[in-house]
Amino acid sequence: MDYMFQSTVPTERRKGEKGLKCKACSREARENGYCELHMKAYENAIEKYKVWQKAMQISWKEYLSEIVKNPLTGEWAREVAESMIKSGEKQDGTSN
Ligand SMILES: [Zn+2]
Repeated sequence: MDYMFQSTVPTERRKGEKGLKCKACSREARENGYCELHMKAYENAIEKYKVWQKAMQISWKEYLSEIVKNPLTGEWAREVAESMIKSGEKQDGTSN
């Protein structure tokens, strides 16, 4: 739980065109609320969830907390999962 504002990422300057920031970091967000890198992690998470669901009965929330708990989870995926847990986001695919 100590991933707060790591500066391992070269942060782009806040452009604030739309005032949209990534839900998982402070980079500029794309249309679904994540920056490019976190969006990729988000899409991967959804893909993997489909696989997990086939193998076991697991809810989206349970899945997210598994991601967070798993020491093998990449930094991006963990941050995305954390942000989704916090916002209580439902799994609804990548498009709106
Ligand atoms: Zn981000």
